[in-house]
Amino acid sequence: MAERGAGRLLIAVVAAIALAPLALGSFAVGLLDDIGIGALVALGLVLLTGVGGATSFGQAAFVGIAAYASAWLTTAHGASPWLGLPFALLLTGLAAWLIGALTLRLGGHFLPLSTIAWGLSIPLLFGNIDALGRHTGISNIPPLQFGPWSLITPRAIYTLIWLVVGLSCWFSHNLLHSRAGRAIRALRGGATLLGSVGADAYRVRLTLFVTAALFAGLAGWLYAHANRFVSPSPFDLRASIEYLLMAVAGGLGQLSGALVGAALVMAVKNALQDLLPLLSSRGSQLDSVVFAALFLLLLQYARGGLMGFLRRKIRSRAGRPALTAGPAVAPLPRRSLPPPGTPLLQVAGAVKRFGGLVAVAEVSFAVSAGEIVGLIGPNGAGKSTMFNLLTGTLPMDAGSVRFLGQDISAAAQRKIARLGMARTFQHVKLRPDMSLLDNVALGAHSRTRGGLLAAGLRLDRAEEAQIFAAAWAQLERIGLAERAHEPAGSLPLGTQRLLEIARALAADPVLLVLDEPAAGLRRREKQALLELLRRLRAEGMTILIVEHDMAFVMGLVDRLVVMNFGAKLVEGRPAEVRADPRVQSAYLGVGA
Ligand code: ADP
Ligand code: MG
Repeated sequence: MAERGAGRLLIAVVAAIALAPLALGSFAVGLLDDIGIGALVALGLVLLTGVGGATSFGQAAFVGIAAYASAWLTTAHGASPWLGLPFALLLTGLAAWLIGALTLRLGGHFLPLSTIAWGLSIPLLFGNIDALGRHTGISNIPPLQFGPWSLITPRAIYTLIWLVVGLSCWFSHNLLHSRAGRAIRALRGGATLLGSVGADAYRVRLTLFVTAALFAGLAGWLYAHANRFVSPSPFDLRASIEYLLMAVAGGLGQLSGALVGAALVMAVKNALQDLLPLLSSRGSQLDSVVFAALFLLLLQYARGGLMGFLRRKIRSRAGRPALTAGPAVAPLPRRSLPPPGTPLLQVAGAVKRFGGLVAVAEVSFAVSAGEIVGLIGPNGAGKSTMFNLLTGTLPMDAGSVRFLGQDISAAAQRKIARLGMARTFQHVKLRPDMSLLDNVALGAHSRTRGGLLAAGLRLDRAEEAQIFAAAWAQLERIGLAERAHEPAGSLPLGTQRLLEIARALAADPVLLVLDEPAAGLRRREKQALLELLRRLRAEGMTILIVEHDMAFVMGLVDRLVVMNFGAKLVEGRPAEVRADPRVQSAYLGVGA
């Protein structure tokens, strides 16, 4: 029902946009052209800021680079505007890649601040280069030619602009529902989450940044040949903030927000241009004040933007999507597991200090294939830190870790994940607004290859089907397939831990590293988890587990390593460890 309703709405919107020029005058059509161009930039911002969590106050600079590039090539060299397109996109992409490589590692508020820096300086550059006409800009830019038609009037270029907008929305929608898109949507979860599934957060961010800039580049190219004149001011910081306002006003949470926001901002801007001069003789300069006030009001009262507000209304009435396991597909290739008993993991003299605190003090132990080894100890003993060291989540201060015969002491987290070590976190790292299925599918990242371009063009469907089949199988395994399409945030905390196990299993690991997986589970759920872990061992999986529930641990593990105050206290079979007086005193808090 809900899906059919959305489909009808989409058809109605497309039809309205297609038929609009037949009913409207030239001025209105020109305004719609501007809205389309603005929507392209805002679309990039919805992806970059709304989905990826990186705010850019400099997007107009990318519009400017593309506009100037095509303007220069077509006026100074007489090239065809169609040739201007790849040239403009190439320059914009290169500029974004360079700026991104320099700034995207900056944390916190430094990234948005740096976007202001280049958002300011790039338009200044345009105004100071002779070849670009300095402050007077470049005029007499040729219009686009389409066979015998010249797209010289706002009405003539309308179809092209909206075709580009439509294709860009389609591309972005496909992208968000793909391997690359899941990685982008997981960016807000932090680099550690992405690293744990074998992805490189920095690279994901950089590709996203370049993609958003390329949407701005498309807008710039259209702008140059629609207006046939470029000068620095339409690409300055003020314009950048207007684009951001579009994305925020429409709603950063969904692609449609870009269209609605662009329409909203353009309409308000137009109305203000008519109204403000009536109020004051300096009225024309007041519009930035009004925009600033609107921005503040939006952030205060409607963070989700207009579409966020509407969607909440619609969703509360919409039905659930159908539950299907999807058509049968060839399964993703599996790793071959080492035969039971082969040495798998060797930790030797591992040390981690936090300032003066030695969280892990020269700990050594080994794990063989097919074993379940428990790591236990009182709170603060250093168990989670030990897991962070061997999964590459934190760098070690001294010591070494070998896994599958390779020295991984200094390897990046994603490399270790790709080798076949999958983990869960004591403090759950899921994307609460992504579905259970998408969260688990994220786990298969390192087993698959689909890139951003293939995703946007829907060339990745065969692999996507394989990923979802694998994710579905893991969800069934933990008994959550029925809730596959619900947001992960709707699960109780204990169940979220199970979902993390499914995500780890989707990576087809050799070694599963679980940090307190049973915490928060009810008795029956614990029993089910116990059976799942035993079954995994029977299938040849090796498991390293931290768990506080002693009954659970003792009934599961082959061997125990006990830590206390960062150091290894004892190691042995459960019965031996239980009988050890040192362990008893450590747990009772009595000095040994
Ligand atoms: P466990 O998992 O055994 O409860 P942890 O490994 O989480 O213990 O912590 C061991 C010690 O290291 C604790 O004293 C904890 O406060 C400290 N610690 C853990 N992580 C950090 C960190 N990122 N920065 C500073 N201290 C930390
Ligand atoms: Mg811990």
